[in-house]
Amino acid sequence: MPEAIEPDDLFAMTGLSRGAPKDGFPDHEMFPQVAYEIVHDELLLDGVSRMNLATFCTTWADDYARRLMAESLDKNIVDKDEYPQTAELEQRCVRMVADLWHAPDPAAHVGTSTTGSSEAAMLGGLAAKFRWRARGGAGTPNFVCGPVQVCWEKFARYFDVEMRRIPLRGDRLTMHPEDIAAYCDENTIMVVPTFGQTYTGLFEDVAGISAALDDIEAKTGLDIPIHVDAASGGFLAPFCAPDLVWDFRLPRVKSINASGHKTGLAPLGAGWAIWRERADLPRELVFDVDYLGGSMATFNLNFSRPGGQAITQYYDFIRLGRRGYSRVQNEIYRVAQHLADGLGASGLFEMIHDGDPRRGITAVSWRLRETQDFNLYDLSDRLRSRGWLIAAYPLPADRDDETIMRAVIRHGFTRDMVDLLLADMDRCLTLLRKHPLGLTRAEAGGFTHSATAAVPADQIASAHG
Ligand SMILES: *Cc1c(COP(=O)(O)O)cnc(C)c1O
Repeated sequence: MPEAIEPDDLFAMTGLSRGAPKDGFPDHEMFPQVAYEIVHDELLLDGVSRMNLATFCTTWADDYARRLMAESLDKNIVDKDEYPQTAELEQRCVRMVADLWHAPDPAAHVGTSTTGSSEAAMLGGLAAKFRWRARGGAGTPNFVCGPVQVCWEKFARYFDVEMRRIPLRGDRLTMHPEDIAAYCDENTIMVVPTFGQTYTGLFEDVAGISAALDDIEAKTGLDIPIHVDAASGGFLAPFCAPDLVWDFRLPRVKSINASGHKTGLAPLGAGWAIWRERADLPRELVFDVDYLGGSMATFNLNFSRPGGQAITQYYDFIRLGRRGYSRVQNEIYRVAQHLADGLGASGLFEMIHDGDPRRGITAVSWRLRETQDFNLYDLSDRLRSRGWLIAAYPLPADRDDETIMRAVIRHGFTRDMVDLLLADMDRCLTLLRKHPLGLTRAEAGGFTHSATAAVPADQIASAHG
């Protein structure tokens, strides 16, 4: 037999015996099945996404969604002229989301798909900054918020806007509407309530914040708009707490972002940004691309971007409709409440958010009722040994002496899985009571609920000042 013929067992092929190229660009080619096996096997070391209760993002998709994603692998959403139906489906989604969020005039609103809430938040923030400038704003623009996701720190730093984060006070973990006035001035471009906090899962009181801003306007004449970060609440409250007023029903709400790839149920890489009216999106942010012999407005930070996410989001919307989303999301809330009940029954934990659809998202957050020999980082670490990824982390800066834990329950997580988790938690707690670890946040493993800035904002400010 000639020497050069490869053995027909994959694991005896030379590519695998050479190992995975790691440093520098590889010199040689390998058979695709060998390269595939190397990559596939390496990924076995990743966590199991459906057991990852630290993420807010979609970890379950049905076969039709997977099929549409595979079929649209080659669709660039920016090529509106070449793929006009992809553009059309995106526009239908924008109209559907605007309708869901009660945009008052279907002919007037504008919106776009994005890669996620971060891009959508940047666009909402930029629009507010440009509107402020058009009103004659000069000096350093600022925005006012409570404990926000890291995308708002990014917005502040990348686009030179001062972030005025109202410190927490009392036992409340969301922004107090009555605190806002002290932080607003003529350079405040917007107030950003979070509708579904990343820390706790709780909704901030958008209607209360709007009323506080009405008061400020009556007293000072300052007319300050609201951008709602509804990353995960935007596809929950419309179905499960429809009477909660947080969206365009409040005239002060000029723009809203949400992540299609969180509670919107779309695959990773889908977000939405919607403005109440065309005038709320300054012309400077809009670029035109060719579309069916004419042109179409685009306003994104990216140029090329996959089209499958918007396509599959459209599939989700028409497949489920309002009734289907209500059924799916209410069931997720029930599963979250089942977890909260189980945790509460242990007597060890105090619930911060127990999965009540009127108070927050499909998540549960809790703290230790009293000090124990072990801490929540220990618990997070022990649970990880069974494959459960559940984040423990400190509260925001002004309350960072306190550690909490949060589990985000998502489509595809069942009551039965909650029971398995609670049984594992019981085992972990029994062990930790005997052998507490006393881990620090850094020691408890490299994953947390969100990114944090490498250089805290106050240090940047002092470096500048
Ligand atoms: C997840 C999240 C973001 C960031 O959204 P991505 O879709 O991950 O970019 C922003 N704000 C809140 C409140 C979030 O939960």
